[in-house]
Amino acid sequence: MDLHNLYQEVIIDHGKNPRNSGELEQYTCTHDASNPLCGDQLTIYVDVDNNIIRNVSFRARGCAISIASASIMSQIIKGKTVEEVQFLFEYFHKLCTGEEINGPVHESEDIERLKVMSGVSKFPSRVKCATMSWHAMKKCID
Ligand code: ZN
Repeated sequence: MDLHNLYQEVIIDHGKNPRNSGELEQYTCTHDASNPLCGDQLTIYVDVDNNIIRNVSFRARGCAISIASASIMSQIIKGKTVEEVQFLFEYFHKLCTGEEINGPVHESEDIERLKVMSGVSKFPSRVKCATMSWHAMKKCID
């Protein structure tokens, strides 16, 4: 199986069975996001305590890319500091828009998992599908 197929499998899996789906009982911030071009809608719930993302969940309707991206993000950012998440946001945004990534990026499991979405950079109309959940989350931690 080549990398492209592997990435597609991961997106389909998360799109069908999103992790951390639903509303949190306790959260410090929630935010809505939508992508009218594709019909994606999302509400994110984030529980930040002492600069750490204690918990995160989301409700989403839309395409497999938007749901998979939110699902993967929720797994990656849980337990991270706000600064770590801001770095991952910047990285992910560049990955999706095809912008050059300056400086060395420490290859980590998180970075590897984000690369699953790198294919959207070739499809400008799908960039927002992938980044919508990250923008909503970023509004919560800013
Ligand atoms: Zn979409």
